[in-house]
Amino acid sequence: MSPAPARRATRDADPILYRIAPSDPHAHLFTVAMTIAHPDPEGQRLALPAWIPGSYMIREFARHVVALSARDARGVLRADKLDKHTWRVGRTPGPLTVEYTVYAWDLSVRAAHLDAGHAFLNPTSVCLRVVGQESRPCTVVLEPPPADVARGWRVATTLPEAGARRGGFGRYRAADYDARADHPIEMGTFALARFDAAGASHEIAVTGRTDVDLDRLVRDLAPVCAAQAALFEPRTRRAPFERYLFLATAVGDGYGGLEHRDSTALLCARNDLPWRGMGAAGDGYRTFLGLASHEYFHAWHVKRIKPAAFVPYDFDREAYTRLLWVFEGFTSYYDDLMLVRAGAISRADYLKALARTISLVERAPGRTVQSVADSSFDAWIKYYRQDENSPNAVVSYYAKGALVALAIDLAVRARTQGRASLDDAMRLMWRRFGRDFYAPGGGPGPAQSGLAEDGFPALLREATGVSLGARLARWVDGTDALPLARLLAPLGVTLSFAPADPAPSLGVRIAPRGGERRAATASRGGAAKRAGLSAGDVLVAVDGMRVDEKALKALLSRRRAGDTVAVHAFRRDELLRVEAVLDAPARTEATLKVGAQDNALRRGWLGERAAARR
Ligand code: ZN
Repeated sequence: MSPAPARRATRDADPILYRIAPSDPHAHLFTVAMTIAHPDPEGQRLALPAWIPGSYMIREFARHVVALSARDARGVLRADKLDKHTWRVGRTPGPLTVEYTVYAWDLSVRAAHLDAGHAFLNPTSVCLRVVGQESRPCTVVLEPPPADVARGWRVATTLPEAGARRGGFGRYRAADYDARADHPIEMGTFALARFDAAGASHEIAVTGRTDVDLDRLVRDLAPVCAAQAALFEPRTRRAPFERYLFLATAVGDGYGGLEHRDSTALLCARNDLPWRGMGAAGDGYRTFLGLASHEYFHAWHVKRIKPAAFVPYDFDREAYTRLLWVFEGFTSYYDDLMLVRAGAISRADYLKALARTISLVERAPGRTVQSVADSSFDAWIKYYRQDENSPNAVVSYYAKGALVALAIDLAVRARTQGRASLDDAMRLMWRRFGRDFYAPGGGPGPAQSGLAEDGFPALLREATGVSLGARLARWVDGTDALPLARLLAPLGVTLSFAPADPAPSLGVRIAPRGGERRAATASRGGAAKRAGLSAGDVLVAVDGMRVDEKALKALLSRRRAGDTVAVHAFRRDELLRVEAVLDAPARTEATLKVGAQDNALRRGWLGERAAARR
């Protein structure tokens, strides 16, 4: 039986209140006070997510909840732990107040970080879910830090305002917990730029000591944003949000990005950002643009078009899908492709980046034992938890997924003489699953659904008229090399492979550590592995001579494939002597060359006009 309509209206008017304070920056502690007007009369359960969507690994954010207490008007209530991330509070008619502190010292895009310089938080690390009341609206009050660090601090977030004061501290709202969880928050003294693109207001906030040229960033990013919106909505060319926020944190050395529905958190090396007076984009800046483009593309693809397995997210446990090659792979394909189509990078730079991806996949023996579909499913225990054997056992659903996207795109373009492409499949997925995924206020759309595990081949056929049948199944579920050279040929692009190093190969990658030369990986089937060496062994001498990387390289360049070398190595504290037969160098270094002739298929693919632009 449902409650009377009048009663229900009153109940829905009482949102879950979160009051979040960066209360002790030096101890890296946030204090959160929650008020729940109508707790479960049987004892309200509260849970912190075990993972954050976009990063497919169980992270158990609850391990950083330091202390939790509960009370109502009558006094203190019991709060019992039910499992690693769930609490149950004693029975109360309400309202219930829960207070807790969260330790925030993870400078990544996935969790929360607080010191006297800034505060960053993903709500999945900080905001408890009120179990059973996930669809209730939320109010979020952001408090400023203590006065001694608060000078110049302001707030950057895409949470809708509901009475924020100066600097953005104050009141915000979210349609439900899913929305609450999907808007990260930055507080601090970041540099900020604004621009309009695709009918939406965009902001870039850069945290960290930088000399970033924000004008240059805006100049380069705005056309990319416009091009992505036009890909999905060729008629209106509008983005599916009113505001979008790039939240970048610059550090000495770092790289990462996490997508959200209206924003993204980026971690980058400060030297990858553009500075005033910088000339043409170098490798570092192109990498940053590719990262920003990747996360922005996710606003359509994975935040609105989703695998059915993510509808809704199960925050308590792994959400298994064999489709990350579609969601991460296709996004990795389009990130750089949108840069070249928008004119942010040159065709030569795009083909260099694509060749790097091809080389990356070619180099890792894991591509011959794991398919991209299997890699997707096992992301939680393999791709996200790499060890010394990962190169031998794991294929990246990002990198190989991008190449599967390329293969599909080129096959469809060739079959239809350029009349259809993967773009059409993106648009059909968008219309079917993405466009109405959220209601205008940020709550769930009228009929939320996602791409079924086996749904892509039929969708591709419907969107393009092309059935790739068993070929597509081989690319996705198989481990054979993709026929990229054959697929690129009709576009006047030649793919060739050469050895990265002409010297014969010992089949180990050396990582220097504290003066030792340790084998970081030993390639499956390679010379070292066949001889009995392993990752973790410390290489001492080859053919009686002490070796470091340079000496080993010089020694190998004087040997030939088939020669035998004697290797001395330590495994733990025991000395080993083995004989290894050197291999011919693997031809893993890809190069892409464009023919001089005009090619309509290639122009369509790279978004070039009939008269070549460059
Ligand atoms: Zn991604």
